[in-house]
Amino acid sequence: MNSSPENITILQRDHHTISRKQISTATLKVLYRLHEEGFTAYLAGGAVRDLMLNRQPKDFDVATEATPEQIRRLFRNCRIIGRRFRLAHVIFKNETIETSTFRAPIPTTPEDAQQGKTMTVNDGLVIRDNLFGTPEEDALRRDFTINALFYDPSDFTVIDHAGGLEDLNQRLIRVIGDPDRRFTEDPVRMIRAARFAGTLDFQIHQADFDSIRRNAPLLEQASPSRMYEEVQKLFFCGHAKKVYHWLEKTDLIRPMFTTFSDWVEEDPKRHDWVIQALEQMDRWREAQLSIHPSLLFALIFGEYHETLIAQKIEQGSAPFDAARDTVYQHLNSICIQVRIPKTVIYQVCDIMTNQLRFRKTKGRQPQRFMQSAGFLDAFLYLKYTTKTHNRDLDLLEFWAQLRRENPVKRAPHRAGPRRRRPRNKRK
Ligand code: ATP
Ligand code: MG
Repeated sequence: MNSSPENITILQRDHHTISRKQISTATLKVLYRLHEEGFTAYLAGGAVRDLMLNRQPKDFDVATEATPEQIRRLFRNCRIIGRRFRLAHVIFKNETIETSTFRAPIPTTPEDAQQGKTMTVNDGLVIRDNLFGTPEEDALRRDFTINALFYDPSDFTVIDHAGGLEDLNQRLIRVIGDPDRRFTEDPVRMIRAARFAGTLDFQIHQADFDSIRRNAPLLEQASPSRMYEEVQKLFFCGHAKKVYHWLEKTDLIRPMFTTFSDWVEEDPKRHDWVIQALEQMDRWREAQLSIHPSLLFALIFGEYHETLIAQKIEQGSAPFDAARDTVYQHLNSICIQVRIPKTVIYQVCDIMTNQLRFRKTKGRQPQRFMQSAGFLDAFLYLKYTTKTHNRDLDLLEFWAQLRRENPVKRAPHRAGPRRRRPRNKRK
């Protein structure tokens, strides 16, 4: 290991276990092509972190000194994307390699900011930044030290500008720079911290943890569509239960799902239900089942929805209307924070209203239901709730038997007929 005065640590090839065999062919093609043309190009971000931890990276990102236009000239299969920061997607048959130019830091002094390179609004929340920089600058503007490592395939070294190697050893999620400032710039970083802590089984550095608890309400300022993407990552990562614990400890649930969070906090039993739902998500993930977001939301909010539905029925609503309206209203209300797409909301409505169809076991109805687009997700929900609550086991057996006799040929939902909108929302 070499250290130089500029706070850089370089790990030589015999001091780490990353090998090119672990990196996808497409990524290597991009890296080598850039290198051949004389550009510095590194594997960057989460992939280096995961390889250092002997985990399989989800995707590979490349960081380079070549500008987006220079990248485009080198690769025919390249698209430039991004308004906030332009970067290149190099598209291969089975993989797209995100290739971004080294970025400069966000200006901290008024002089820097005056150069018009970055605009900030809302007490420091960054809305636009478009400056290219050096590798070190690029590393230091990333979120956490362990996400700021580079792997240089030209000499097989791992380059650390931010102290990420030490934090990997210590199993610590640590913000680069001042946590209050970094979380204000981009509040989504707070839920990323919870996700990485849960997924990697790391601790969050104490000062950062305290900062998240102080700044948690800022999450309400994050873009709802970005939040939707991040929320899916939180619960589909295979460690949803652990991630949820971190979200709770850091007070991040409330700014995402306010009414639901108030409801959960009223009674410890409700908390257990949520945890059971997340355990189920993790089991499905472990079994490598591909679960649609609608089933995720149906499960997480299942007990909450069922309680509200029961109240509505008690107040005189028809069961179908009660189920559909409750789910629609709740998920629609979340959209200010987390923009769940309308199609997903309708699918969750279907999962809950379809629970009523499971009660109709006579005549041709069961066969027809079983062939319908939303059956499989509704059935997985039924299976989960009957087993968790040890109720309606006969009903479950009836449908399980029917399924065994008539294997379902079609994929869950999609391609189905257009979903019905709740009546009161129709134009
Ligand atoms: P995952 O395993 O979920 O892909 P990742 O660390 O690769 O984890 P990405 O969202 O793919 O996460 O982002 C790639 C890299 O970009 C990160 O490792 C980090 O260096 C940087 N990054 C992502 N989001 C932010 C952010 N909000 N602020 C600063 N840097 C970020
Ligand atoms: Mg990634």
